[in-house]
Amino acid sequence: MNSPSSSTNRACHPWVAQVAVVTEVRQEIESVATYRLRLRDAEIARQYRFQPGQFNMLYVPGCGESAISHSGPSENDGHDLWHTVRFVGRVTDSIAKLNVGDHLGVRGPFGTAWPLEACKQRDVVVMSGGLGLAPLRPMLYALMAKRSEFGRVVLLHGARTPETILYPEELSQWQAQGIEVELTVDRADGEWAGNVGVVPLLLDRLPDLRPAQTEVVTCGPEIMMHFSAISALKRGIPETSIWLSMERNMQCAAGLCGHCQWGPLFVCKDGPVFRYDRIRTLLKVRDL
Ligand SMILES: Cc1cc2nc3c(=O)[nH]c(=O)nc-3n(C[C@H](O)[C@H](O)[C@H](O)COP(=O)(O)OP(=O)(O)OC[C@H]3O[C@@H](n4cnc5c(N)ncnc54)[C@H](O)[C@@H]3O)c2cc1C
Repeated sequence: MNSPSSSTNRACHPWVAQVAVVTEVRQEIESVATYRLRLRDAEIARQYRFQPGQFNMLYVPGCGESAISHSGPSENDGHDLWHTVRFVGRVTDSIAKLNVGDHLGVRGPFGTAWPLEACKQRDVVVMSGGLGLAPLRPMLYALMAKRSEFGRVVLLHGARTPETILYPEELSQWQAQGIEVELTVDRADGEWAGNVGVVPLLLDRLPDLRPAQTEVVTCGPEIMMHFSAISALKRGIPETSIWLSMERNMQCAAGLCGHCQWGPLFVCKDGPVFRYDRIRTLLKVRDL
């Protein structure tokens, strides 16, 4: 397997939700907020480790659980877990009502990670759409933390409108730390002087690309990842250097219940991060 599975580095039992307290809430954009959580058990917090790309199941008593990716730095110990949440339904709307000092349950970490080892000494193109930047942010932090171990790093990010660009205040910090940032929006407003169009177009015209030297990691709506992969292939990047993070409705997160089954794969334990050549045929099947 390309990256660690859910069974590695777990401080707590996969079925037992650990109590966490909300220590900070940051409103990001409309219907999206980032939560900083602290595990209540200090020993479990000390042992908790995750890798960029992995997710937790967040549990709101009386409402249920949702898979939510880590969106903060993985170098931290478990004292600060960051999750960026879009409020779309029963569980996430309950998370929206949480304030600093409130409690929720955390199970995890689960799933495979972004291929940081495979990226060493290579160029990395990070392609995100909308909230897809959240699961990629720990990857960006990891690239910045050991910047000299990687080649050129480019972030190509797309949002619907300029005001829905996630983490806008961090983008200039990332540029200062050696990340090239290209943004695009579906719909511009009067102030916007940047790109208009879909994310794959940014890769189509990215100058000085070295295809044989490049890894592409992408997260966002499935259609966006599909066309990002096609754009990467057209630019000569091999299938084995393209990585996607898939989303499926899931419940147990441990490969048992089958809710997230995708052909022969379980997104919760075989993914969410997959190498393109391993899922290419599944991506072409509609309505699995
Ligand atoms: C590995 C993984 C990582 C994720 N990371 C994040 C994250 O970082 N931030 C975030 O906001 N969301 C993330 N999600 C999506 C999140 O899990 C769902 O939005 C959430 O579970 C919806 O639950 P709900 O009870 O609020 O909505 P529900 O009331 O259950 O559903 C609302 C609508 O969303 C659909 N839906 C529910 N779950 C999913 C899903 N997983 N994928 C696609 N559609 C779904 C339902 O079919 C329904 O149409 C992730 C999902 C996965 C599988």
